[in-house]
Amino acid sequence: MTDHSHKQLSSVMAGLMGRCPRCGKGKLFDGFLTPAPRCEVCGLDYSFVDSADGPAFFVMFFAGFVVAGSALVVEMLYGPPYWVHALLWGPLILLTTLVPLRPVKGLLIALQYHHKAAEGQLVGRDAP
Ligand SMILES: [Zn+2]
Repeated sequence: MTDHSHKQLSSVMAGLMGRCPRCGKGKLFDGFLTPAPRCEVCGLDYSFVDSADGPAFFVMFFAGFVVAGSALVVEMLYGPPYWVHALLWGPLILLTTLVPLRPVKGLLIALQYHHKAAEGQLVGRDAP
């Protein structure tokens, strides 16, 4: 394993744990999903953070596959009344969306930091 892949792996783990992608110690979030202004340990400015709809998209994609697939299987096998579906899939939707949302957002922020992903910027003609 090279230093580069080791650094990426630790950034990924820090993101999944909701920690600063640079030092891995400071808190990344100030609340459930709101990024803190900066790392309280190393001072990394989190103003670069722009995960937009990425975390919600990946989580909805996963949750929709699991919940809709489970509902179809249960309906085909048992044909229960609708109130059983409401009782089963409401909590499963909450579980499969709220639990992974924060780690996925942390992961995308860590990957954005690692790959220095940002909007394109105009470069002056004098730049090398
Ligand atoms: Zn830090």
